[in-house]
Amino acid sequence: MNPRFHANPSANGQGMTSQRARDRLVERLRSEGGIRDERVLSALRTVPRHLFIDEALASRAYEDTALPIGNSQTISQPWVVAKMTEALIEHGLPKRVLEIGTGSGYQAAVLATLGIEVFTVERIDELLRTARRRFRNLGLNLRTKHDDGRMGWPEHAPFDAIIVTAAGAALDAALLNQLADGGTLVAPVGGAMSQNLLRLRKTPEGIVQEDLGKVVFVPLVSGVL
Ligand code: SAH
Repeated sequence: MNPRFHANPSANGQGMTSQRARDRLVERLRSEGGIRDERVLSALRTVPRHLFIDEALASRAYEDTALPIGNSQTISQPWVVAKMTEALIEHGLPKRVLEIGTGSGYQAAVLATLGIEVFTVERIDELLRTARRRFRNLGLNLRTKHDDGRMGWPEHAPFDAIIVTAAGAALDAALLNQLADGGTLVAPVGGAMSQNLLRLRKTPEGIVQEDLGKVVFVPLVSGVL
């Protein structure tokens, strides 16, 4: 375990339990979830998910389920985080990644733990403030922005990879435009009830699109709050 994660007092007392619970969750993601990438499994073993949710729900942090984080939003299910991260780094670890939908900050923290430079955009100010505090407490250095992420973050484009963690009916062209040549974009696309997790890669032959299966995300919403 990374020693910096002991720095937060709320990790004390629960520390060993949490690490054991985390290890168990990771073994399930491997055996039942089909997650194979050791880099991803190691990152999920490291990042204390219980610090990304309200204390009242902390005891459920290592169940493989999405949980409410306030403002009608959720922290993604660990399997989904693992699956998206695996899909994002499979063809080489990206140097710089743009995330749309910071939410709790958990997915962003997993990416940062992999040594990736993370740029993350969130439309709900209250969630972003809480996420920023978590990053600081864990000693994680990420770039954050309060904005409508559908526009991407043009000042820092192009990105080697882009991950969208809220569901849209279609992919926003602005995001694809901010993806570097050879880059990978992962996003849930579809209706309100369920979506398909799509992976798009910008290759010399054009855009290659794959469908990685059904997922359920909260909707991508325009404007800021
Ligand atoms: N990656 C997050 C998942 C949070 S749920 C985590 O690991 O916890 C999706 C988040 O996307 C919500 O916080 C929601 O407010 C945010 N979101 C929805 N539409 C958005 C938009 N247009 N721009 C930025 N963030 C958006």
